[in-house]
Amino acid sequence: MKIVSTIKEVREQVKAWKKEGLTVGLVPTMGYLHEGHASLMKKGKEECDKVVASIFVNPMQFGPNEDLASYPRDLDKDATLCESIGVDMIFHPEPEEMYSPHFCSYVDMNVLTEDLCGKTRPVHFRGVCTVCSKLFNIVQPDKAFFGQKDAQQLAIIKRMVEDLNIDVEIIGCPIVREADGLAKSSRNTYLNEEERKAALVLSQSIFLGQKMVEDGETDAKKVVAAMTEKIQSEPMARIDYVKVVDAMTMQPIDVIDRPIVTAIAVYINEKARLIDNFSFDK
Ligand code: AMP
Repeated sequence: MKIVSTIKEVREQVKAWKKEGLTVGLVPTMGYLHEGHASLMKKGKEECDKVVASIFVNPMQFGPNEDLASYPRDLDKDATLCESIGVDMIFHPEPEEMYSPHFCSYVDMNVLTEDLCGKTRPVHFRGVCTVCSKLFNIVQPDKAFFGQKDAQQLAIIKRMVEDLNIDVEIIGCPIVREADGLAKSSRNTYLNEEERKAALVLSQSIFLGQKMVEDGETDAKKVVAAMTEKIQSEPMARIDYVKVVDAMTMQPIDVIDRPIVTAIAVYINEKARLIDNFSFDK
């Protein structure tokens, strides 16, 4: 497995693979990899001849008071995991490689970015869309793999490649959870043991909403109310949002009469802002 840090090296390697007629998959990540990331890479290996994992904590998608500086990083451990899965190349650029001092071009989006995480993190999706466009241009993958864990991001990336005619197939992969239900996240490492237990309220709330919807509840307000009450039962939890949105537009709805996502973001002890969701195809 190669670990490269320049765009030139990625392009040369991918060009060589394509010359041999091989297909290429891309898994964009911010590193500090866990089983959730691994599931994307394994899916990539199943569907493509070669897999590139990018590991880049993208400064552009963090707001001024967010956790860019403290975001966990461990390239050696990440490389060991990637190697064990059979990832062919890690692209690990420095911010300067991705953003020259003259950088001033962005990819932005309306509608899908307006609610949920876009509300609390106003610059986040502009950073995500811009960096993913760059990664698609650099790697030119046949397929790119994203987790349903970040449901809004997945919907946005699918919309972006369709709107801008980017020639890549976006593959969504299911949420990987801990045995007790907590969705795996690099940010779970911000929590101590007690807070980690309190964080279970996220998945419990998601499963509660899921059951209501699967049992036929169509009133989104009732689902939101039940999920909210569950989260509020945990004193360490502070709700950012609890919403039922249209799966296509990511806009809140009142009646569950189409594919939806129930999505939550919750602060645990003000240390970590965690997200979780459940998708339902009516
Ligand atoms: P991140 O490193 O957090 O930017 O995540 C990189 C990719 O891994 C994104 O497409 C995420 O949706 C995906 N991902 C993160 N956590 C999980 C998880 N628990 N299950 C499935 N995919 C995940």
